[in-house]
Amino acid sequence: MANSRYEYVKQYEQDATLLPGCFIVVRVDGKGFTKFSELHGFEKPNDKRALDLMDRCACEVLREFSDVRMGYGVSDEYSFVLAPSTALYGRRTSKIVSVLTSFFTASYVRWWGEHMGADAPLRATPAFDGRAVCYPNAATLRDYLSWRQADCHINNQYNTPYWCLVKSGATPSEAQRTLAGSDAGFKNELLFSRFGINYNELPEQFRKGSVVVRARERFVAKVREDGTAVERERGRVAVLHADIIGDAFWTERPETLA
Ligand code: ATP
Ligand code: ATP
Ligand code: MG
Ligand code: MG
Ligand code: MG
Ligand code: MG
Repeated sequence: MANSRYEYVKQYEQDATLLPGCFIVVRVDGKGFTKFSELHGFEKPNDKRALDLMDRCACEVLREFSDVRMGYGVSDEYSFVLAPSTALYGRRTSKIVSVLTSFFTASYVRWWGEHMGADAPLRATPAFDGRAVCYPNAATLRDYLSWRQADCHINNQYNTPYWCLVKSGATPSEAQRTLAGSDAGFKNELLFSRFGINYNELPEQFRKGSVVVRARERFVAKVREDGTAVERERGRVAVLHADIIGDAFWTERPETLA
Protein backbone atom coordinates (compact mmCIF):
# COMPACT_ATOMS: atom_id res chain seq x y z
CA MET A 1 0.00 0.00 0.00
CA ALA A 2 1.26 3.49 -0.87
CA ASN A 3 2.55 5.50 2.05
CA SER A 4 0.93 8.87 2.56
CA ARG A 5 2.98 11.86 3.54
CA TYR A 6 1.22 11.77 6.89
CA GLU A 7 2.55 8.40 7.87
CA TYR A 8 5.57 9.80 9.69
CA VAL A 9 3.27 10.56 12.68
CA LYS A 10 3.40 6.86 13.49
CA GLN A 11 6.93 7.49 14.83
CA TYR A 12 5.38 9.36 17.75
CA GLU A 13 3.76 6.19 19.08
CA GLN A 14 5.55 4.83 22.10
CA ASP A 15 5.30 1.09 22.41
CA ALA A 16 6.16 0.30 26.01
CA THR A 17 6.63 -3.45 26.41
CA LEU A 18 6.48 -5.66 29.47
CA LEU A 19 9.78 -7.16 30.64
CA PRO A 20 10.64 -10.49 28.99
CA GLY A 21 10.57 -13.64 31.10
CA CYS A 22 8.40 -12.12 33.83
CA PHE A 23 4.89 -13.10 34.84
CA ILE A 24 2.47 -10.40 33.75
CA VAL A 25 -0.44 -9.57 36.02
CA VAL A 26 -3.27 -7.49 34.64
CA ARG A 27 -5.64 -6.20 37.31
CA VAL A 28 -8.98 -4.65 36.45
CA ASP A 29 -11.02 -2.76 39.05
CA GLY A 30 -14.52 -1.30 38.81
CA LYS A 31 -14.64 2.49 38.47
CA GLY A 32 -16.61 4.07 41.30
CA PHE A 33 -18.26 0.82 42.38
CA THR A 34 -19.03 2.19 45.83
CA LYS A 35 -21.65 4.30 44.06
CA PHE A 36 -22.40 1.79 41.30
CA SER A 37 -23.15 -0.94 43.86
CA GLU A 38 -25.52 1.36 45.77
CA LEU A 39 -27.30 2.47 42.60
CA HIS A 40 -28.00 -1.17 41.74
CA GLY A 41 -28.99 -2.23 45.24
CA PHE A 42 -26.11 -4.66 45.83
CA GLU A 43 -26.58 -6.63 49.04
CA LYS A 44 -23.92 -5.43 51.54
CA PRO A 45 -21.22 -6.36 52.07
CA ASN A 46 -21.34 -9.25 49.56
CA ASP A 47 -23.87 -9.42 46.77
CA LYS A 48 -23.55 -12.98 45.51
CA ARG A 49 -25.11 -12.19 42.11
CA ALA A 50 -22.52 -9.47 41.48
CA LEU A 51 -19.65 -11.72 42.57
CA ASP A 52 -20.92 -14.50 40.29
CA LEU A 53 -21.05 -11.97 37.44
CA MET A 54 -17.40 -11.01 38.06
CA ASP A 55 -16.47 -14.72 38.13
CA ARG A 56 -18.38 -15.28 34.88
CA CYS A 57 -16.48 -12.44 33.17
CA ALA A 58 -13.18 -13.92 34.37
CA CYS A 59 -14.13 -17.33 32.92
CA GLU A 60 -14.87 -15.62 29.60
CA VAL A 61 -11.40 -13.99 29.72
CA LEU A 62 -9.71 -17.39 30.21
CA ARG A 63 -11.73 -18.90 27.36
CA GLU A 64 -10.88 -16.03 25.00
CA PHE A 65 -7.18 -15.64 25.86
CA SER A 66 -5.26 -18.89 26.04
CA ASP A 67 -2.18 -17.05 27.41
CA VAL A 68 -4.03 -16.23 30.64
CA ARG A 69 -3.17 -18.96 33.12
CA MET A 70 -5.42 -18.06 36.01
CA GLY A 71 -7.40 -15.28 37.63
CA TYR A 72 -8.05 -14.16 41.19
CA GLY A 73 -11.01 -11.95 42.04
CA VAL A 74 -12.51 -10.16 45.02
CA SER A 75 -15.08 -7.35 45.25
CA ASP A 76 -14.94 -5.29 42.03
CA GLU A 77 -11.45 -6.42 40.99
CA TYR A 78 -9.87 -9.30 39.10
CA SER A 79 -6.21 -10.11 38.54
CA PHE A 80 -5.15 -12.17 35.53
CA VAL A 81 -1.82 -13.98 35.34
CA LEU A 82 -0.11 -14.35 31.95
CA ALA A 83 2.65 -16.86 31.34
CA PRO A 84 6.24 -15.50 31.54
CA SER A 85 6.78 -16.73 27.98
CA THR A 86 3.70 -15.06 26.51
CA ALA A 87 4.19 -13.27 23.21
CA LEU A 88 0.65 -11.85 23.24
CA TYR A 89 0.62 -8.58 21.22
CA GLY A 90 4.40 -8.55 21.35
CA ARG A 91 4.05 -7.91 25.12
CA ARG A 92 3.00 -4.34 24.37
CA THR A 93 1.57 -2.93 27.60
CA SER A 94 -1.21 -0.80 26.20
CA LYS A 95 -2.49 -3.50 23.83
CA ILE A 96 -2.60 -6.16 26.54
CA VAL A 97 -4.16 -3.93 29.20
CA SER A 98 -6.71 -2.29 26.91
CA VAL A 99 -7.89 -5.48 25.21
CA LEU A 100 -8.24 -7.46 28.46
CA THR A 101 -9.93 -4.58 30.26
CA SER A 102 -12.41 -3.83 27.48
CA PHE A 103 -13.14 -7.54 27.00
CA PHE A 104 -13.85 -7.86 30.73
CA THR A 105 -16.02 -4.72 30.74
CA ALA A 106 -18.00 -5.77 27.68
CA SER A 107 -18.56 -9.21 29.24
CA TYR A 108 -19.82 -7.52 32.41
CA VAL A 109 -22.49 -5.75 30.37
CA ARG A 110 -23.20 -8.78 28.19
CA TRP A 111 -23.84 -11.16 31.11
CA TRP A 112 -25.35 -8.63 33.54
CA GLY A 113 -28.97 -9.69 32.96
CA GLU A 114 -28.25 -13.38 33.31
CA HIS A 115 -26.64 -12.97 36.73
CA MET A 116 -28.38 -9.95 38.24
CA GLY A 117 -31.91 -10.93 37.27
CA ALA A 118 -34.80 -9.14 35.59
CA ASP A 119 -35.52 -6.88 38.58
CA ALA A 120 -32.05 -5.27 38.43
CA PRO A 121 -31.75 -3.45 35.10
CA LEU A 122 -28.45 -1.78 34.30
CA ARG A 123 -28.92 1.91 35.14
CA ALA A 124 -25.42 3.22 34.52
CA THR A 125 -22.50 2.36 32.26
CA PRO A 126 -19.93 0.29 34.16
CA ALA A 127 -16.25 0.90 33.49
CA PHE A 128 -13.10 -0.81 34.75
CA ASP A 129 -9.60 0.54 35.03
CA GLY A 130 -6.72 -1.73 34.14
CA ARG A 131 -3.01 -1.96 34.88
CA ALA A 132 -0.21 -4.39 34.20
CA VAL A 133 2.60 -5.31 36.58
CA CYS A 134 5.54 -7.65 35.94
CA TYR A 135 6.63 -10.14 38.58
CA PRO A 136 10.10 -11.58 38.02
CA ASN A 137 9.56 -15.03 39.53
CA ALA A 138 7.12 -17.46 41.12
CA ALA A 139 7.85 -16.16 44.64
CA THR A 140 6.90 -12.56 43.90
CA LEU A 141 3.87 -13.67 41.88
CA ARG A 142 2.67 -15.76 44.80
CA ASP A 143 3.26 -12.86 47.19
CA TYR A 144 1.20 -10.63 44.91
CA LEU A 145 -1.72 -13.09 44.92
CA SER A 146 -1.37 -13.64 48.68
CA TRP A 147 -1.56 -9.88 49.15
CA ARG A 148 -4.88 -9.72 47.26
CA GLN A 149 -6.34 -12.69 49.16
CA ALA A 150 -5.19 -11.34 52.53
CA ASP A 151 -6.86 -8.05 51.58
CA CYS A 152 -10.08 -9.92 50.80
CA HIS A 153 -9.98 -11.58 54.22
CA ILE A 154 -9.19 -8.38 56.16
CA ASN A 155 -11.89 -6.38 54.37
CA ASN A 156 -14.50 -9.08 54.77
CA GLN A 157 -13.73 -9.55 58.43
CA TYR A 158 -14.34 -5.84 58.96
CA ASN A 159 -17.23 -5.32 56.54
CA THR A 160 -19.34 -8.23 57.82
CA PRO A 161 -19.82 -6.92 61.39
CA TYR A 162 -19.87 -3.34 60.09
CA TRP A 163 -22.90 -4.01 57.88
CA CYS A 164 -24.62 -6.10 60.57
CA LEU A 165 -24.34 -3.10 62.92
CA VAL A 166 -25.57 -0.63 60.30
CA LYS A 167 -28.47 -2.89 59.24
CA SER A 168 -29.52 -3.20 62.88
CA GLY A 169 -29.78 0.58 63.28
CA ALA A 170 -26.29 1.90 64.08
CA THR A 171 -25.11 4.96 62.17
CA PRO A 172 -21.98 4.44 60.04
CA SER A 173 -19.87 6.38 62.55
CA GLU A 174 -21.24 4.37 65.49
CA ALA A 175 -20.41 1.14 63.68
CA GLN A 176 -16.92 2.48 62.89
CA ARG A 177 -16.32 3.41 66.55
CA THR A 178 -17.46 -0.02 67.75
CA LEU A 179 -14.96 -1.76 65.45
CA ALA A 180 -12.08 0.73 65.61
CA GLY A 181 -8.79 -0.94 66.49
CA SER A 182 -10.44 -4.26 67.38
CA ASP A 183 -8.84 -7.60 66.60
CA ALA A 184 -10.33 -10.56 64.70
CA GLY A 185 -11.39 -12.29 67.94
CA PHE A 186 -13.48 -9.30 68.98
CA LYS A 187 -15.16 -9.02 65.58
CA ASN A 188 -15.95 -12.75 65.44
CA GLU A 189 -17.33 -12.68 68.98
CA LEU A 190 -19.50 -9.65 68.20
CA LEU A 191 -20.82 -11.37 65.06
CA PHE A 192 -21.66 -14.51 66.98
CA SER A 193 -23.11 -13.07 70.19
CA ARG A 194 -25.16 -10.25 68.63
CA PHE A 195 -26.04 -11.59 65.21
CA GLY A 196 -25.73 -15.39 65.55
CA ILE A 197 -23.21 -15.51 62.69
CA ASN A 198 -20.23 -17.87 62.78
CA TYR A 199 -17.64 -16.14 60.60
CA ASN A 200 -16.08 -19.42 59.50
CA GLU A 201 -19.42 -20.62 58.18
CA LEU A 202 -19.85 -17.70 55.77
CA PRO A 203 -19.54 -18.73 52.09
CA GLU A 204 -15.95 -19.31 50.98
CA GLN A 205 -16.59 -17.00 48.02
CA PHE A 206 -16.94 -14.12 50.53
CA ARG A 207 -14.04 -15.12 52.78
CA LYS A 208 -11.51 -16.25 50.17
CA GLY A 209 -12.53 -14.62 46.90
CA SER A 210 -12.52 -16.52 43.62
CA VAL A 211 -9.81 -18.34 41.70
CA VAL A 212 -10.36 -19.13 38.04
CA VAL A 213 -8.18 -21.95 36.71
CA ARG A 214 -7.90 -24.34 33.82
CA ALA A 215 -8.75 -27.65 35.44
CA ARG A 216 -7.52 -30.74 33.63
CA GLU A 217 -10.29 -33.18 32.90
CA ARG A 218 -10.27 -36.48 31.05
CA PHE A 219 -13.01 -37.02 28.52
CA VAL A 220 -14.03 -39.68 26.04
CA ALA A 221 -12.93 -38.33 22.66
CA LYS A 222 -14.40 -41.24 20.72
CA VAL A 223 -15.43 -44.86 21.08
CA ARG A 224 -13.54 -47.45 19.00
CA GLU A 225 -15.36 -50.09 16.98
CA ASP A 226 -14.58 -52.67 19.63
CA GLY A 227 -16.43 -50.49 22.15
CA THR A 228 -13.39 -49.24 24.07
CA ALA A 229 -13.09 -45.54 24.78
CA VAL A 230 -10.35 -43.21 23.54
CA GLU A 231 -9.72 -40.78 26.37
CA ARG A 232 -8.06 -37.39 26.05
CA GLU A 233 -7.32 -34.54 28.41
CA ARG A 234 -8.63 -31.03 28.09
CA GLY A 235 -8.54 -27.87 30.16
CA ARG A 236 -11.91 -26.78 31.46
CA VAL A 237 -12.24 -23.32 32.98
CA ALA A 238 -13.40 -23.64 36.58
CA VAL A 239 -14.08 -21.31 39.51
CA LEU A 240 -12.73 -22.27 42.93
CA HIS A 241 -12.90 -20.52 46.28
CA ALA A 242 -9.62 -21.92 47.49
CA ASP A 243 -6.79 -20.75 49.71
CA ILE A 244 -3.94 -19.55 47.49
CA ILE A 245 -1.67 -18.31 50.30
CA GLY A 246 -0.63 -21.79 51.46
CA ASP A 247 1.36 -24.27 49.37
CA ALA A 248 -1.32 -26.91 48.69
CA PHE A 249 -3.02 -25.06 45.82
CA TRP A 250 0.31 -24.61 44.01
CA THR A 251 1.65 -28.10 44.68
CA GLU A 252 -1.44 -29.46 42.92
CA ARG A 253 -0.86 -27.17 39.91
CA PRO A 254 2.89 -26.89 39.31
CA GLU A 255 2.31 -25.86 35.67
CA THR A 256 0.79 -22.54 36.83
CA LEU A 257 4.14 -21.30 38.15
CA ALA A 258 6.37 -22.82 35.45
P1 ATP B 1 -12.33 3.25 42.38
O1 ATP B 1 -12.89 3.77 41.10
O2 ATP B 1 -11.20 4.06 42.91
O3 ATP B 1 -11.97 1.80 42.31
P2 ATP B 1 -14.50 2.31 44.04
O4 ATP B 1 -15.67 2.99 44.65
O5 ATP B 1 -14.79 1.24 43.02
O6 ATP B 1 -13.53 3.43 43.46
P3 ATP B 1 -13.10 0.22 45.49
O7 ATP B 1 -12.02 0.34 46.52
O8 ATP B 1 -12.73 -0.50 44.23
O9 ATP B 1 -13.61 1.71 45.22
O10 ATP B 1 -14.30 -0.48 46.20
C1 ATP B 1 -15.29 -1.22 45.54
C2 ATP B 1 -16.63 -0.94 46.16
O11 ATP B 1 -17.65 -1.70 45.50
C3 ATP B 1 -16.71 -1.26 47.63
O12 ATP B 1 -17.37 -0.21 48.28
C4 ATP B 1 -17.56 -2.52 47.68
O13 ATP B 1 -18.34 -2.55 48.83
C5 ATP B 1 -18.44 -2.40 46.43
N1 ATP B 1 -18.73 -3.73 45.89
C6 ATP B 1 -18.04 -4.36 44.90
N2 ATP B 1 -18.53 -5.58 44.67
C7 ATP B 1 -19.53 -5.75 45.54
C8 ATP B 1 -20.44 -6.84 45.81
N3 ATP B 1 -20.38 -7.99 45.13
N4 ATP B 1 -21.37 -6.66 46.77
C9 ATP B 1 -21.44 -5.52 47.46
N5 ATP B 1 -20.62 -4.46 47.26
C10 ATP B 1 -19.67 -4.58 46.32
P1 ATP C 1 -6.87 -6.06 15.04
O1 ATP C 1 -7.35 -6.83 16.21
O2 ATP C 1 -5.43 -6.21 14.77
O3 ATP C 1 -7.29 -4.60 15.07
P2 ATP C 1 -8.83 -6.22 12.93
O4 ATP C 1 -9.37 -7.36 12.15
O5 ATP C 1 -9.77 -5.49 13.84
O6 ATP C 1 -7.60 -6.75 13.77
P3 ATP C 1 -8.33 -3.65 11.66
O7 ATP C 1 -7.15 -3.16 10.86
O8 ATP C 1 -8.62 -2.90 12.92
O9 ATP C 1 -8.11 -5.20 11.93
O10 ATP C 1 -9.54 -3.66 10.67
C1 ATP C 1 -10.88 -3.57 11.04
C2 ATP C 1 -11.72 -4.50 10.19
O11 ATP C 1 -13.09 -4.38 10.55
C3 ATP C 1 -11.63 -4.22 8.71
O12 ATP C 1 -11.53 -5.44 8.02
C4 ATP C 1 -12.96 -3.55 8.39
O13 ATP C 1 -13.37 -3.88 7.10
C5 ATP C 1 -13.89 -4.11 9.44
N1 ATP C 1 -14.86 -3.09 9.80
C6 ATP C 1 -14.79 -2.24 10.83
N2 ATP C 1 -15.83 -1.42 10.88
C7 ATP C 1 -16.61 -1.76 9.84
C8 ATP C 1 -17.84 -1.27 9.36
N3 ATP C 1 -18.48 -0.25 9.94
N4 ATP C 1 -18.36 -1.85 8.26
C9 ATP C 1 -17.71 -2.85 7.66
N5 ATP C 1 -16.57 -3.38 8.07
C10 ATP C 1 -16.02 -2.84 9.15
MG1 MG D 1 -9.38 1.89 43.93
MG1 MG E 1 -13.26 0.03 42.27
MG1 MG F 1 -11.84 -2.48 44.20
MG1 MG G 1 -9.17 -3.71 14.85
